[in-house]
Amino acid sequence: MKKCNLKDALKIYPRLLFVLDKDGSIIEVSGSLASELDLVQSKVKGLKSYRTNQFPIRKTHYKQALSGREFSFNIRISERSFETELTPIKDKHGVVIGIAGMTSDITKNLEIEQFLDEERHNIFVNQRLSSLANVTNGIAHEINNPLAIISGYAQQLETISQENAPSLERLNLITKKIVSASERCSRIIDSLKDFSRDGSHDDFKIESASDIIDATVNLCTQKYKSAGIKLKSNSVDVDLKISCRRIQLVQTLFNLLTNAFDACKVVNRPMVTIKVTELQNNIAIAVTDNGPGIPESLKNRVFEPFFTTKEVGAGVGVGLSIAKGVIEEHQGLIELESSTSNTVFIITLPKAYEQSEDKTEAS
Ligand code: ADP
Repeated sequence: MKKCNLKDALKIYPRLLFVLDKDGSIIEVSGSLASELDLVQSKVKGLKSYRTNQFPIRKTHYKQALSGREFSFNIRISERSFETELTPIKDKHGVVIGIAGMTSDITKNLEIEQFLDEERHNIFVNQRLSSLANVTNGIAHEINNPLAIISGYAQQLETISQENAPSLERLNLITKKIVSASERCSRIIDSLKDFSRDGSHDDFKIESASDIIDATVNLCTQKYKSAGIKLKSNSVDVDLKISCRRIQLVQTLFNLLTNAFDACKVVNRPMVTIKVTELQNNIAIAVTDNGPGIPESLKNRVFEPFFTTKEVGAGVGVGLSIAKGVIEEHQGLIELESSTSNTVFIITLPKAYEQSEDKTEAS
């Protein structure tokens, strides 16, 4: 009976294995992927790899490997995705004399990853929609206040209008109060728009950091008030700007404030603070809560998709992993500060500068 040997095993190995000469021509191919890609040894031997259809390598890759670097890259051929790893073969003096390579078909893996990403996003959207009712309740409460102000001043206007010589100064003051209260109403309603829409395809725009914090705080104020949890934020210079997808940032901060809320509702004197600090080229937004904290052993896991310690129905564990993706898309960083007994999540984002209108050229 014939014995197994490495050469035969390599022929059925579910990859493409190859060796190239240092001018990029194919010396040898093996593996079952070779025949799938129609790269049969007898047909391709001696051909330039980067000029051969179906060979998963481009000239730039071959050149990089010639420079002595070991690396891998992804490439698409005929609707399929491949990962190729290249290793330079060197003589005993370190001179590259050829290139060894291995290619795997990663089409399925990428499809699964994409499917999981989409699922994660859908879960996030569903979770946000399910808390919409809660937020809407809070918003309704928040609007009641300025509405009461508007109604009170409108009644005063009615009384004044029946006077013989109404004071213009008084009328002016009342009008200003009504305008300011209605503007507050619109800001609160705008925050609701920030919460409910999917902003992941919006264009990046320059926004004021204070505006984004205010919009997020507006969404949570009532929920915090009803649970007796203090929510404090420092005053932020309105000129501090970030280039962002506003809706995504509001939703990310909202998620941090929801986690902080959930964490500290079990302690005495619960408190959450949002602190914005201007750094040299960045803006740091820190959300701190005085809840029980995150156990040392779990700190590394909180950004993992589907990691949750909340009860079934209360959490699905996608908030922080989505937040991480969003902040990275904004060229920023989200970190868990573990040096204090409080829990602090810090978002760092690059500062943005509005283009000056003044286009005067230097003479
Ligand atoms: P979810 O809130 O649905 O669980 P997240 O991704 O937002 O998903 O959070 C993942 C986990 O991180 C939470 O279940 C919790 O264990 C932990 N976590 C996040 N923020 C805090 C916090 N402020 N205090 C304590 N644990 C937190």
